[in-house]
Amino acid sequence: MTTDRNQRHKSAMQRRKALVDEKIAQANEERGIVIVLTGNGKGKSSSGFGSVIRCLGHGYKAGIVQFIKGTWDCGERNFIEQRCPEVPYHVMGSGFTWETQDRERDIAAAEQAWEQAEKLLQDDSLHLVLLDELTYVLKYGWIEQQRIFDAIQQRPADMSVIVTGRAASKALREIADTVAEVGDEKHAFRAGIKARRGIDW
Ligand code: ATP
Ligand code: MG
Repeated sequence: MTTDRNQRHKSAMQRRKALVDEKIAQANEERGIVIVLTGNGKGKSSSGFGSVIRCLGHGYKAGIVQFIKGTWDCGERNFIEQRCPEVPYHVMGSGFTWETQDRERDIAAAEQAWEQAEKLLQDDSLHLVLLDELTYVLKYGWIEQQRIFDAIQQRPADMSVIVTGRAASKALREIADTVAEVGDEKHAFRAGIKARRGIDW
């Protein structure tokens, strides 16, 4: 009985390995990619920062621009600024738009942050550029979409770019190679649990 089950498992695994090996053999293009992490669930920015750590762990260089939440105490920012000072890290400085209620100020802040992003997107020493919460810049129209897409698409061939944020547009999804929609099945906040330091920010 057990031998039977073991034998079935072995055959199934052999079939699966053959399929995976075939797919690996087919994926023979080498280039940097554009990843969009969107959706209403939790885990987009933390995944982006996880990929930055992955890069650094292999000895590659990465750069980061955060397009919102400039005024927040943020664990990943503290860590990278203190422990990885060589990683370029720029934060859009004017806080949440619903706090400032000043579109001109938002546009000026976005312009400054985007100029930093453009520099990173031209820097061929970088393996990865994380554009955290960039979807809001597009959604609010603070920077012209074509300008953003040009900089992303004209990046060095080996560079990958991760864009995070809710409500990624169809156009942004189209220029991406990988798109992940993080679903919001449950969030502790809705059960009245306060956002936790080190977990939520
Ligand atoms: P994280 O930074 O934890 O990976 P995220 O980038 O996917 O989250 P954002 O939309 O950028 O999510 O929101 C950031 C903050 O809002 C985090 O503190 C996160 O826990 C919280 N959050 C994310 N999704 C939800 C949700 N569906 N309901 C309530 N709070 C949320
Ligand atoms: Mg986020």
